Amino acid sequence: MKLSLEPVMNPSKLTGNVFDIKRFALHDGHGLRTTVFLKGCPLHCCWCQNPEGIASTKQVLYFANSCINCKTCLAYSKNGGITSQEKGIKLCREKTEDWDTIINMCPTNALQYDSKTYTVNQLITELKKDLVFFQSDGGVTFSGGEPLYQAPFLLESLKACKQANMHTAIETTLYAKKEIIEEIFTYVDLIYVDLKILDSKNHQRYVGAKNDGILDNFRYLLTSIHKDKVIVRTPLIPQMTATKENIEQIAKFLFHLYPDVHYELLNYNPLAKAKYEYLDGTYCFSENPKPYNDEQLQKFYDIVLQQGIKHLIIE
Ligand code: SF4
Repeated sequence: MKLSLEPVMNPSKLTGNVFDIKRFALHDGHGLRTTVFLKGCPLHCCWCQNPEGIASTKQVLYFANSCINCKTCLAYSKNGGITSQEKGIKLCREKTEDWDTIINMCPTNALQYDSKTYTVNQLITELKKDLVFFQSDGGVTFSGGEPLYQAPFLLESLKACKQANMHTAIETTLYAKKEIIEEIFTYVDLIYVDLKILDSKNHQRYVGAKNDGILDNFRYLLTSIHKDKVIVRTPLIPQMTATKENIEQIAKFLFHLYPDVHYELLNYNPLAKAKYEYLDGTYCFSENPKPYNDEQLQKFYDIVLQQGIKHLIIE
């Protein structure tokens, strides 16, 4: 279902799992934007900035700072999903529980779902509230997770956005079938694509999947009618993506496909580490590195420029 685009009987009633709707975003496209974060990603980048977006299903989160240790949740837990600790509770989200009730009964919202289910109609109604801000230059950006992972919901949402005359953008890894990309990108005005690692073995090691399909989709995209609406981005992750070899290989690959490609390097963002704590996950760095300084960034820019890329976006 998620990775195919069969005709849908009643598209406006199709549902999707959304883990955030961020208003007034300035870095996800032109102008003021509303960014819709769709849940589910087939990749597992070990530095993922949105780990709450990886699982495709709803998950329960526990915010220990908001817990007043009242143990109400414990009284409604029947199967060991909540256990007592000296300070607060321990959550075992894999257990089958009446999570709706448990979450509703928590008096301080220390327990919450990480996402919400929307129909296409509900989502568009929400987005239309922001039309006034989109008038001059802004629009809607679909991000994730990997938004293509909920392809049918994404497609119908994009169609509805275009019907409402909204500018549309997407942030994607291109990890999807080419037919899906072809169909969906017809309704997208601006395409941000991550290209993290070119070497196949390193891609498997740090991103958790092979990159053959991704690179094939780049070959298609950067020679297609969509090529001028594409901005390729590489997040600079110390020791993983931010190596001379990797940046050089990516720049060479992109230039060879389309010399006028627009390319951007995103500085390392150390803020994601905190999210792993409330998800009980392990972040890739025990010692969180700092973002690169101007001098270090310039060295990466020089590597890109030496490969012939003219449109390097520098913020
Ligand atoms: S109900 Fe909420 S506040 Fe009370 S112990 Fe459970 S998580 Fe903490």
